Amino acid sequence: MGLTVENARLDGEGVGVRCAEGTIVALGPEVVAQPGDETLDAAGGQLLSPLVNGHTHAAMTLFRGSGGDLPLMPWLEEKIWPVEAKLADEDVYWGARLACAEMVRSGTTRFWDMYWQPAATARAVEDAGVRATIGAPLFDLHGSPAQLREMAHKGLEALAGCGPRITPALAPHAIYTVSEESLRWIGELSAERGLPVQIHLSETEKEVQDCLAEHRERPAHYLDRLGLLSERTVLAHGVWLDPDEMALIAERGATVVSNPVANLKLAVGGVFPHPAARSAGVAVGLGTDGAGSNDSLDLLADLKTFALVQKHAAGDPTAIDAAEAWAVATGARAPRLGATPLEPGAPADFLLTRANSPELGIGELMADLVYAASGAAIAAVVVAGEVLVRDGGVPELEEIVVRAAERARGLGL
Ligand SMILES: [Zn+2]
Repeated sequence: MGLTVENARLDGEGVGVRCAEGTIVALGPEVVAQPGDETLDAAGGQLLSPLVNGHTHAAMTLFRGSGGDLPLMPWLEEKIWPVEAKLADEDVYWGARLACAEMVRSGTTRFWDMYWQPAATARAVEDAGVRATIGAPLFDLHGSPAQLREMAHKGLEALAGCGPRITPALAPHAIYTVSEESLRWIGELSAERGLPVQIHLSETEKEVQDCLAEHRERPAHYLDRLGLLSERTVLAHGVWLDPDEMALIAERGATVVSNPVANLKLAVGGVFPHPAARSAGVAVGLGTDGAGSNDSLDLLADLKTFALVQKHAAGDPTAIDAAEAWAVATGARAPRLGATPLEPGAPADFLLTRANSPELGIGELMADLVYAASGAAIAAVVVAGEVLVRDGGVPELEEIVVRAAERARGLGL
């Protein structure tokens, strides 16, 4: 028994999709349901690859709307860190459930997460039916390298028993919060076990100036010297990367994830140099960052901002086109982020748009998706052949919203 989607549209033609055991087994105009299949009528909606959120802190939905107009350091010191010090597993679980519901409803089926109590996030991801690469944030600014190693091992052990929808990762917070010794150790552990590494890099100009003053090299070169720049590495932000760093990142096969809305909200003063990344051949993805600094997790809405700030910063409306922006948001420009193609044999993960979406009826589909649509244009979302969103709705959403709000109030937020 499988799932068959009927009456969908792909590249201007009517198609069906049949899924069995989590995989697409047939896709095309001739596909029909087999006896016993569950059927889903797309009613003429477009079949699309799902979005990949390349950088977030899912459970930070709990911090939405708290101190969001403060500068970065007072916001962290007064609003975030004192509360994070008392987070319980259930806080992280319900915060992450809310994040998963928001993401899947707006078309994101896979995300890269860096947050405390990673096992609670993993449980939320599995209960929600989506996919994620998860790492506990690693710091040794106020601790020791020995404590950091213990944290890293504890995080990996907590994720070891998870199912195939969870990929464990190492998540050193940043070069200014993790010591040189620990960064080197994380690089070795990543190489030894083939683990992905996610780290914030080159988010502010101050980070670059401090790195130059302390290490006499720019952030990407510093990471490379410590053995942390490889095809397993995902760099969040990259706003201040220069052309030499881009060339090095491309050579090492690392990925950069741009988070344009969080960058604008925290006023980092620059724009990720996407045209330079493209000419260097860097793999690029898109992220929302956490709801503490965005505050939305609707990647389809952020995609418009991504394209617009690129055009604006370049002073050139042709700096990026809709098809390229869409490819970045679906992970097609960054194979390591875990996107999968829409074809037989691939995991059965896809989206269907609302056939009557007011934003999608006229003009070119890619342009409409990037410049006009938001997550509200998504009618259905399927992951591993399972329908997670129907008619734009997520089951249990009401309970999830109530429980997450209770946890946030319990934390004094
Ligand atoms: Zn972040």
